[in-house]
Amino acid sequence: TDFQSMGLNPALLQALKSSGYEKPTPIQAQAIPHLLKGKDLLGIAQTGTGKTAAFALPILHRLAENRVAPMPRTTRCLVLSPTRELATQIAESFKTYGAHLGFRVATVFGGVKYGPQERALQQGLDVLVAAPGRLLDHMQQKTIDLSATEIFVLDEADQMLDLGFIKPIRQVVAKLPFKRQNLFFSATMPGEIGKLAGELLKDPAKVQV
Ligand code: AMP
Repeated sequence: TDFQSMGLNPALLQALKSSGYEKPTPIQAQAIPHLLKGKDLLGIAQTGTGKTAAFALPILHRLAENRVAPMPRTTRCLVLSPTRELATQIAESFKTYGAHLGFRVATVFGGVKYGPQERALQQGLDVLVAAPGRLLDHMQQKTIDLSATEIFVLDEADQMLDLGFIKPIRQVVAKLPFKRQNLFFSATMPGEIGKLAGELLKDPAKVQV
């Protein structure tokens, strides 16, 4: 199997060529076809497996398939990430793979000023990569409105548990629209994470690498 036969948008294939990716990694080969169909996904995978492209490519494909101008303060896709470093990396991946699509991608996390994040949110986003604490602050300040979110990704769920983010995640999820696509990634599946996955995912495809 290769990226082209998956039916990915030519703009994405071009970016993959520039990145020197020749063929999908196992998690990409397993996950991308399900995600292109709009299915929910439970992925058991570590960092380093090509997990980020496994979700970023089909998400960009679907956003491009049904292109709409994001409304102010909304995002079409929300990715929750446990740390600032990981959020930055994920956003960079969306920008690299989406280089020919002209989407608006931004990050929010703690430890930096609110002003630049508020201005980015104000414009409306295609993809927002956020750490839970600062995202909740923006929700309280009404500088983000999650009611138009079409795709929700929870990355590194087991790290989220270790960092005490399970309650914040539930507060975020409570503000998402009912009809949406959900992606859930974790390296391990302790009981509490399995429970959260069960609450969040609707008839998910399961992939493990
Ligand atoms: P990740 O697991 O998402 O952190 O990705 C690990 C590394 O693999 C990153 O440096 C990616 O740029 C790289 N990568 C992801 N997918 C592919 C692929 N299909 N071919 C070659 N490198 C890849």
